[in-house]
Amino acid sequence: MQSFSDLATAAYCSRKLYYRRREDDYDPPPGVEAVRSLAFRYPELLAPDADLDTVPIERSPTNYRSALGSAKARLDRWEELVDPPERRVLLEGKDCRGVAHKLLSEPPAPAIVSTGSPPERGVYEPQSVRATAAAKALAWERKRPVETAYVEYPAYGEIRRLRMTTRRKARYRRTLRAARSLDGPPPRLRNDDRCRACEYRDQCGTRSRSLRSLL
Ligand code: SF4
Repeated sequence: MQSFSDLATAAYCSRKLYYRRREDDYDPPPGVEAVRSLAFRYPELLAPDADLDTVPIERSPTNYRSALGSAKARLDRWEELVDPPERRVLLEGKDCRGVAHKLLSEPPAPAIVSTGSPPERGVYEPQSVRATAAAKALAWERKRPVETAYVEYPAYGEIRRLRMTTRRKARYRRTLRAARSLDGPPPRLRNDDRCRACEYRDQCGTRSRSLRSLL
Protein backbone atom coordinates (compact mmCIF):
# COMPACT_ATOMS: atom_id res chain seq x y z
CA MET A 1 0.00 0.00 0.00
CA GLN A 2 1.53 3.33 -1.07
CA SER A 3 1.00 6.55 0.85
CA PHE A 4 -0.32 9.67 -0.88
CA SER A 5 2.82 11.55 0.13
CA ASP A 6 5.16 8.89 -1.33
CA LEU A 7 3.25 9.04 -4.59
CA ALA A 8 3.53 12.82 -4.64
CA THR A 9 7.28 12.53 -4.03
CA ALA A 10 7.63 9.92 -6.79
CA ALA A 11 5.78 12.25 -9.15
CA TYR A 12 8.34 14.94 -8.36
CA CYS A 13 11.30 12.58 -8.83
CA SER A 14 11.44 8.84 -8.14
CA ARG A 15 15.05 9.16 -7.03
CA LYS A 16 13.90 11.61 -4.38
CA LEU A 17 11.46 8.99 -3.11
CA TYR A 18 14.36 6.52 -2.95
CA TYR A 19 16.29 8.90 -0.65
CA ARG A 20 13.25 9.68 1.44
CA ARG A 21 12.54 6.02 2.10
CA ARG A 22 16.18 5.16 2.71
CA GLU A 23 16.48 7.91 5.33
CA ASP A 24 13.00 7.43 6.73
CA ASP A 25 12.59 11.16 6.24
CA TYR A 26 8.92 11.77 6.98
CA ASP A 27 8.88 14.62 9.50
CA PRO A 28 6.94 17.58 8.09
CA PRO A 29 8.96 20.79 7.72
CA PRO A 30 8.32 23.48 10.35
CA GLY A 31 5.41 25.78 9.68
CA VAL A 32 3.34 23.29 7.69
CA GLU A 33 0.43 23.23 10.11
CA ALA A 34 0.26 27.02 10.34
CA VAL A 35 -0.12 27.25 6.55
CA ARG A 36 -2.57 24.33 6.31
CA SER A 37 -4.77 25.87 8.98
CA LEU A 38 -5.34 28.89 6.68
CA ALA A 39 -7.44 26.60 4.46
CA PHE A 40 -9.97 26.43 7.29
CA ARG A 41 -10.11 30.21 7.86
CA TYR A 42 -11.10 31.69 4.48
CA PRO A 43 -14.08 33.80 5.62
CA GLU A 44 -11.96 35.30 8.40
CA LEU A 45 -9.11 35.99 5.95
CA LEU A 46 -11.49 37.65 3.49
CA ALA A 47 -12.93 40.00 6.09
CA PRO A 48 -11.97 43.64 5.36
CA ASP A 49 -10.64 44.14 8.88
CA ALA A 50 -8.51 40.94 8.96
CA ASP A 51 -4.88 41.61 9.83
CA LEU A 52 -3.14 39.63 7.08
CA ASP A 53 0.30 40.80 8.23
CA THR A 54 0.14 38.30 11.09
CA VAL A 55 -0.64 35.16 9.07
CA PRO A 56 1.77 33.08 6.93
CA ILE A 57 0.64 34.21 3.48
CA GLU A 58 3.02 34.64 0.55
CA ARG A 59 1.29 37.51 -1.24
CA SER A 60 0.54 41.08 -0.35
CA PRO A 61 -2.74 41.39 1.56
CA THR A 62 -4.37 43.06 -1.45
CA ASN A 63 -3.32 40.35 -3.87
CA TYR A 64 -4.20 37.65 -1.39
CA ARG A 65 -7.74 38.94 -0.91
CA SER A 66 -8.15 39.35 -4.64
CA ALA A 67 -7.08 35.73 -5.32
CA LEU A 68 -9.31 34.35 -2.58
CA GLY A 69 -12.22 36.53 -3.66
CA SER A 70 -11.88 35.25 -7.20
CA ALA A 71 -11.86 31.62 -5.95
CA LYS A 72 -15.03 32.37 -4.01
CA ALA A 73 -16.73 33.81 -7.09
CA ARG A 74 -15.56 31.03 -9.40
CA LEU A 75 -16.05 27.83 -7.39
CA ASP A 76 -19.54 26.39 -7.23
CA ARG A 77 -18.71 24.43 -4.05
CA TRP A 78 -17.14 27.32 -2.19
CA GLU A 79 -19.45 26.94 0.83
CA GLU A 80 -18.45 23.31 1.30
CA LEU A 81 -14.78 24.12 0.89
CA VAL A 82 -15.07 26.79 3.56
CA ASP A 83 -16.96 24.55 5.95
CA PRO A 84 -16.32 20.96 4.81
CA PRO A 85 -18.55 18.18 6.12
CA GLU A 86 -15.43 16.13 6.97
CA ARG A 87 -11.91 17.28 7.79
CA ARG A 88 -8.56 15.51 7.85
CA VAL A 89 -9.94 12.12 6.90
CA LEU A 90 -7.75 9.04 6.49
CA LEU A 91 -8.72 7.34 3.24
CA GLU A 92 -7.78 3.80 2.42
CA GLY A 93 -8.12 2.61 -1.16
CA LYS A 94 -7.10 -0.52 -3.02
CA ASP A 95 -3.58 0.71 -3.77
CA CYS A 96 -2.93 3.75 -1.60
CA ARG A 97 -3.82 5.45 1.64
CA GLY A 98 -3.43 8.90 3.11
CA VAL A 99 -5.16 11.96 4.44
CA ALA A 100 -7.62 14.13 2.54
CA HIS A 101 -7.66 17.49 4.29
CA LYS A 102 -11.32 18.03 3.40
CA LEU A 103 -14.09 15.82 2.04
CA LEU A 104 -17.05 17.30 0.21
CA SER A 105 -20.16 15.23 0.36
CA GLU A 106 -22.43 15.16 -2.68
CA PRO A 107 -21.00 14.29 -5.10
CA PRO A 108 -18.03 13.14 -3.02
CA ALA A 109 -14.77 14.97 -3.69
CA PRO A 110 -11.52 15.25 -1.75
CA ALA A 111 -9.56 18.45 -1.22
CA ILE A 112 -5.81 18.42 -0.70
CA VAL A 113 -4.12 21.37 0.95
CA SER A 114 -0.67 22.19 -0.38
CA THR A 115 1.77 24.35 1.54
CA GLY A 116 3.64 25.27 -1.64
CA SER A 117 3.04 27.74 -4.43
CA PRO A 118 0.69 27.17 -7.37
CA PRO A 119 1.66 27.26 -11.04
CA GLU A 120 0.06 29.86 -13.31
CA ARG A 121 -2.66 27.40 -14.26
CA GLY A 122 -3.70 23.95 -13.10
CA VAL A 123 -1.52 22.19 -10.56
CA TYR A 124 1.96 20.72 -10.50
CA GLU A 125 2.35 17.01 -11.11
CA PRO A 126 2.94 15.97 -7.46
CA GLN A 127 -0.30 17.65 -6.36
CA SER A 128 -2.15 16.19 -9.33
CA VAL A 129 -0.99 12.69 -8.40
CA ARG A 130 -1.79 13.21 -4.72
CA ALA A 131 -5.29 14.52 -5.50
CA THR A 132 -5.89 11.63 -7.91
CA ALA A 133 -4.74 9.14 -5.27
CA ALA A 134 -7.21 10.70 -2.81
CA ALA A 135 -10.03 10.58 -5.39
CA LYS A 136 -9.23 6.93 -6.15
CA ALA A 137 -9.15 5.97 -2.48
CA LEU A 138 -12.41 7.81 -1.83
CA ALA A 139 -14.03 6.08 -4.81
CA TRP A 140 -12.88 2.73 -3.45
CA GLU A 141 -14.29 3.43 0.00
CA ARG A 142 -17.62 4.81 -1.26
CA LYS A 143 -17.91 2.27 -4.10
CA ARG A 144 -18.77 4.98 -6.62
CA PRO A 145 -16.86 7.13 -9.09
CA VAL A 146 -15.19 10.32 -7.89
CA GLU A 147 -14.72 12.66 -10.82
CA THR A 148 -13.43 15.81 -9.16
CA ALA A 149 -10.83 16.84 -6.61
CA TYR A 150 -9.59 20.19 -5.32
CA VAL A 151 -6.09 21.38 -4.57
CA GLU A 152 -5.79 24.38 -2.29
CA TYR A 153 -2.79 26.68 -1.92
CA PRO A 154 -3.86 28.64 1.17
CA ALA A 155 -0.65 30.65 1.46
CA TYR A 156 -1.53 32.13 -1.95
CA GLY A 157 -5.33 32.21 -1.71
CA GLU A 158 -5.67 29.87 -4.70
CA ILE A 159 -7.95 26.86 -5.07
CA ARG A 160 -7.85 24.70 -8.19
CA ARG A 161 -10.55 22.28 -9.26
CA LEU A 162 -9.31 19.15 -11.04
CA ARG A 163 -11.25 16.78 -13.23
CA MET A 164 -10.15 13.16 -13.12
CA THR A 165 -9.31 12.94 -16.80
CA THR A 166 -7.95 9.83 -18.51
CA ARG A 167 -4.58 11.52 -18.80
CA ARG A 168 -4.45 12.43 -15.12
CA LYS A 169 -5.38 8.88 -14.09
CA ALA A 170 -2.75 7.42 -16.43
CA ARG A 171 -0.08 9.61 -14.84
CA TYR A 172 -1.21 8.42 -11.42
CA ARG A 173 -0.95 4.77 -12.49
CA ARG A 174 2.55 5.30 -13.89
CA THR A 175 3.62 6.92 -10.64
CA LEU A 176 2.08 4.10 -8.62
CA ARG A 177 4.04 1.54 -10.63
CA ALA A 178 7.25 3.54 -10.17
CA ALA A 179 6.76 3.78 -6.39
CA ARG A 180 5.98 0.08 -6.09
CA SER A 181 8.93 -1.09 -8.11
CA LEU A 182 11.52 1.13 -6.44
CA ASP A 183 14.31 -1.16 -5.22
CA GLY A 184 17.39 0.92 -5.97
CA PRO A 185 18.28 4.51 -6.90
CA PRO A 186 16.61 5.50 -10.20
CA PRO A 187 18.57 7.68 -12.64
CA ARG A 188 19.03 11.34 -11.74
CA LEU A 189 17.03 13.99 -13.51
CA ARG A 190 19.12 15.82 -16.07
CA ASN A 191 19.31 19.61 -16.20
CA ASP A 192 16.06 19.90 -14.34
CA ASP A 193 14.89 22.85 -12.27
CA ARG A 194 13.34 20.46 -9.78
CA CYS A 195 16.84 19.67 -8.47
CA ARG A 196 17.30 23.28 -7.35
CA ALA A 197 14.56 22.88 -4.76
CA CYS A 198 15.40 19.31 -3.79
CA GLU A 199 16.66 18.74 -0.25
CA TYR A 200 18.70 15.73 -1.41
CA ARG A 201 20.67 17.54 -4.11
CA ASP A 202 23.99 17.39 -2.23
CA GLN A 203 23.97 13.67 -1.75
CA CYS A 204 22.41 13.10 -5.16
CA GLY A 205 25.28 14.90 -6.81
CA THR A 206 23.27 16.78 -9.39
CA ARG A 207 24.15 20.30 -10.36
CA SER A 208 21.20 22.54 -10.90
CA ARG A 209 20.90 24.51 -14.09
CA SER A 210 21.59 27.75 -12.26
CA LEU A 211 24.79 26.40 -10.71
CA ARG A 212 25.93 25.03 -14.04
CA SER A 213 25.39 28.41 -15.57
CA LEU A 214 27.73 29.92 -12.99
CA LEU A 215 30.62 27.59 -13.85
S1 SF4 B 1 18.54 16.33 -6.79
FE1 SF4 B 1 17.23 16.08 -8.62
S2 SF4 B 1 17.63 13.99 -9.38
FE2 SF4 B 1 18.43 14.12 -7.28
S3 SF4 B 1 16.75 13.35 -6.03
FE3 SF4 B 1 16.53 15.56 -6.10
S4 SF4 B 1 15.16 16.00 -7.80
FE4 SF4 B 1 15.85 13.88 -8.03
